[in-house]
Amino acid sequence: MELSRILIGAMRFKNRQSAIDTVRFALDCGFNYIDNSACYCYQNPSENSESWVGEAIGHPSYQGRAIISAKCTPGNGGLELGEFIPEKGFGVRSVAQFDQVFAQSRKRLQVDRFDFYHLWTTHTLEQLEEAQKPGGWFAGLHKHAGEWDHLGITTHADNETIITFLKTGAFETVTIPLNIINTTRTAVVDYCRASGITVIAMNPLAGGFLAANEQLKELALRYLLSLEGVYPLIGFSCVEDVDYAEWILKSQRAYQKSTGQILSEVDKLIGADVPRCTACGYCQPCPERINVGASLSYYNLYKFMGNEHARKEFRNKQWEDGLRIDKCKQCGICDSRCPNGLEVMKIIKDAQEIMYA
Ligand code: SF4
Ligand code: SF4
Repeated sequence: MELSRILIGAMRFKNRQSAIDTVRFALDCGFNYIDNSACYCYQNPSENSESWVGEAIGHPSYQGRAIISAKCTPGNGGLELGEFIPEKGFGVRSVAQFDQVFAQSRKRLQVDRFDFYHLWTTHTLEQLEEAQKPGGWFAGLHKHAGEWDHLGITTHADNETIITFLKTGAFETVTIPLNIINTTRTAVVDYCRASGITVIAMNPLAGGFLAANEQLKELALRYLLSLEGVYPLIGFSCVEDVDYAEWILKSQRAYQKSTGQILSEVDKLIGADVPRCTACGYCQPCPERINVGASLSYYNLYKFMGNEHARKEFRNKQWEDGLRIDKCKQCGICDSRCPNGLEVMKIIKDAQEIMYA
């Protein structure tokens, strides 16, 4: 079965019934890949996204219609290694732990095998090395050979680190944050296109806050659909979200704007008359591991559009190294590299003041 052009994210359901209705409606609309993890919507061992999706696809009319992806991690969701929390899929660092989490996902999702399995929330080389240790995550995965078809990795790392992950040759897909205000990982997209690796774009609506503006919401999905080989993963929370995605997809063929035109429309909406960061990424790497483009994208939305969600989302994501602009040492490297001639250090100072205020 081929992947549908838009994929189903299972992390934003409101409750069991809305999850079942949403998943079944999405499958009826032709969206077929469901990305899940043990921790999504986790309330207790029986009320969680995996169990809800399991009920949705376990019905005889829906069996065999979905491409199912599950995942777990040696990490803690952030940049560290994690303590073993089986019910949420964190800290999986031995074969026995892998066995337990893998079996748990199969049971909750009511499937015998997975179409895709992912090394999840792996953002650093140390986390990958931990997974590769003898008797670790990969050993657990290989013990279950024949019970999964394709292996992927899910990461928020920088381009260089992600490409190092992919050069291992272990992964057929990579799931990365990518959206109209965070285009800093397009180098990964180029690499994947050349290497036949599928790119799954998470955070297509930047954690949902792009949905607060109708124009940005549409441009966000159009942008991802304009990128060949990129599959937007949308965290549907209700049938209306699915309905909207179906409309976008159906009308995409008649949509005339190119990727560049979409991005310049976004620029205008966000206030391109003021010189501002376009998240091109040319100032990277920063010695403090700050992803200047991604950080300033949130800042731009808040500063020029008054989008309070952007500031909230930026603060919620402070576990991500790249967004820790408080670590800026004002070294000036980004100023010297910016092709837009921005006074980046000055802008970062302003961003620190208003985003952390
Ligand atoms: S000025 Fe700040 S953000 Fe820019 S490269 Fe130096 S530490 Fe990084
Ligand atoms: S500060 Fe300049 S170089 Fe850095 S991402 Fe923004 S526009 Fe690009």
